[in-house]
Amino acid sequence: MSIARFWRETPRRYNLGGSKCGNCNTVYFPPRLVCPTCPQHRATIEKMVPFQLSGEGEVVSFTVVQDAAEGFEMQVPYVLALVRTVEGPVLTGQVVDVEPKDVAIGLKVKATFRKLREEGKAGVIHYGYKFTPAAAPASAAGPRGPVEPVRPTEATARDRAVA
Ligand SMILES: [Zn+2]
Repeated sequence: MSIARFWRETPRRYNLGGSKCGNCNTVYFPPRLVCPTCPQHRATIEKMVPFQLSGEGEVVSFTVVQDAAEGFEMQVPYVLALVRTVEGPVLTGQVVDVEPKDVAIGLKVKATFRKLREEGKAGVIHYGYKFTPAAAPASAAGPRGPVEPVRPTEATARDRAVA
């Protein structure tokens, strides 16, 4: 499958396109057709509208994966995190461009579009979102001192070369 075709067929993974209830304003990702939050589920069918998540959020839970599943061997250890987006939905994703020891609950991150894995010798490459530390605000140079530049690991450098 060509990459262009993969993009077209998985807009949700690529774009973080969710849905929003026009009645109670709850955002869902993946998108839902009815709002489970509203008491009258059926009445929300025509209220649900496409909603684009910004991809910004913060780490609420994470684990450092040492034993990778097939296709992920090149990337261990890597950080798999639950990220609560600013819009509400919690996403699961890999956190890259940061040493695992520097990932903490509360870390501000942003979703980026990256290579997820390669499949076998055919080299089918899947793309999707990963999280990187969000750009440090200007105030980050305050009491905690300047933020050290993050040196990309070998794996992420390879990702960039392909992305
Ligand atoms: Zn609702």
